[in-house]
Amino acid sequence: MSAKRNIVTLDGPAGVGKTTLAKRVAEAMGIAYMDTGAMYRTLGWKLGAQAASLDEAVLAERLAACTFSLSGSGAATVLAVNGVPVGNEIRTEEVGMLASIVAKLPAVRDALKKAQQAMGEATPLVAEGRDMGTVVFPEARCKIFLDATPQERARRRFDQLVSMGDSPDLEALTEQIRQRDEQDRNRAIAPLRPADDAVIVDTTSLDIDGVFEEIMRHVRTA
Ligand code: C5P
Repeated sequence: MSAKRNIVTLDGPAGVGKTTLAKRVAEAMGIAYMDTGAMYRTLGWKLGAQAASLDEAVLAERLAACTFSLSGSGAATVLAVNGVPVGNEIRTEEVGMLASIVAKLPAVRDALKKAQQAMGEATPLVAEGRDMGTVVFPEARCKIFLDATPQERARRRFDQLVSMGDSPDLEALTEQIRQRDEQDRNRAIAPLRPADDAVIVDTTSLDIDGVFEEIMRHVRTA
């Protein structure tokens, strides 16, 4: 059996707080965090909804033209594509849906899995997404699966968008998150699900500090 890798995985559905928590856990551990949702969002943004109808060779060429890199650590970790830091333009729910559409394509998943594993080879990581514990880092030393009710997740995403200066509609957001979860849980490749050896943390009635403490308890004993 391979030695446990120095990687903490945080998986879970949309709006559960993974990115905020990955930053905090990475900061506490003094290592980088990898926001893999941002990688899918970047490809959704660049390829658009028509990605599925692109010719295989064209899609492969367009994927090969995107190189992801990580620099820095803790909350100051920077994810860049072709040397340019990923910005806030990918943080809308519309881009989230484009990400979820391109995330069903085998060529996209394969390209990002390779990029994510290469970053995990290069440095210890807090890796957050949907398939970190199941597919990308099955040998991670600590695996956490975060969950919360859809209503609570929509409320958290609403607050996040408002803090970014957006004015979202809570009802529409709840429906978008529901659709995206359904798509993520039911796709054929790397669907959203907890790894068999993941600790499941229901965050519905916890605040962010409470979830952080709970995760750190598991990280310390893993
Ligand atoms: O986490 P975030 O909401 O930014 O993710 C955007 C979308 O990217 C998800 O809805 C999912 O379809 C896709 N994704 C994925 N695998 C990951 C991370 C994100 O399929 N590891």
